[in-house]
Amino acid sequence: MPDDVKTDPSEVREIRINPIVPAESVLVATARSMRPKKAEELAPRDTRKHVETCPFCRGNEHKTPPPILTWPETGDWQIRMVENLYPVLGDDRAQAGFTFGLQQTIDGYGRHEVIIDHHEHGIAIQDMAESHLAALFGVYQTRMRQLFESDDRLKYVLVFKNFGPAAGASIPHTHSQVIAMPVVPENVDAEVRNSAAHYAKHHHCIFCALIDEALTFEATIYDRNSGAVRRKINVGQYVVERGEKFIAIKPFASRYEWEVHILPLAHQADFLDVRGEDLADLARVMRRTMARLDAVIGGAQYNFFLHSVPHDTQRSAHAPSYHWHLEICPRTSIPTGFELGSGLFVNTINPEQAAERLRTVEL
Ligand SMILES: [Zn+2]
Ligand SMILES: [Zn+2]
Ligand SMILES: [Zn+2]
Repeated sequence: MPDDVKTDPSEVREIRINPIVPAESVLVATARSMRPKKAEELAPRDTRKHVETCPFCRGNEHKTPPPILTWPETGDWQIRMVENLYPVLGDDRAQAGFTFGLQQTIDGYGRHEVIIDHHEHGIAIQDMAESHLAALFGVYQTRMRQLFESDDRLKYVLVFKNFGPAAGASIPHTHSQVIAMPVVPENVDAEVRNSAAHYAKHHHCIFCALIDEALTFEATIYDRNSGAVRRKINVGQYVVERGEKFIAIKPFASRYEWEVHILPLAHQADFLDVRGEDLADLARVMRRTMARLDAVIGGAQYNFFLHSVPHDTQRSAHAPSYHWHLEICPRTSIPTGFELGSGLFVNTINPEQAAERLRTVEL
């Protein structure tokens, strides 16, 4: 319907520069004809409660390596953490990285572990009790702390989750993963460097500034010649969910149609500094955000990952400028050759409209 698209005042076609990492830009192009949705039907996820043959279901504990930790420690486990049988990094190789010409390699030293998030096989986050989710965040903290304390070669611990086949989950039982590595991942490093540069220039944290804008900023852009209103920006509309201590916002330059980030409202660089009593509020904001995503998308499949200040020698120097956050990236489409070839993400839904739908959907 080209006429409809042309007259739609909310249609957006612009390249949005990520304010934190300018090299990561997004082409927001909402013209409906951009993507052949039919060809991208995503595989459904497994919603069963218990699967006899699943190594992560209760009763099959012998099918996994012995647990690293369980919660609760006694009685029936609710959360269980084990070594990954197919680690991407292993702790058995300790040789140093070497350099050959222009190809630099870094030794694949590290840890790769799996957290079975819940004993129920296919349970979605929005269906978990908030107390359970708070405990899960507590398990993330406990293990991150143990890993950093056990080995000072580890500079970064990445906690992430793939949920559903569309998000690359190879085992359908709901689980998260922990990868501890001796280097800081490039995208985290870019966030850390750029936010430190912003801090050096403006003396405030760019993430805090984005939260302030999300909560208060409004602007009207007028046409230079005619004086007509060209665009009204109400950045407040980026708020998806708000708790007492945490906020869920839709990034201005969202790479994924339904991408949402959760951050602490007060400045905090390290996820390990979240106090135990505040995990309940984080769990509430998380559960409600996932419920909103699920209500709008229907059966959300997603990746989420935690970005926290790296535990390298610069940790305290970066504490005022870096702000930890959880990035949730629902997978509703598959990247095309254009995205792979250009490195430019294409988002076919206007982030302001996506935020409004998420914020206003009935829970
Ligand atoms: Zn299972
Ligand atoms: Zn901050
Ligand atoms: Zn990030």
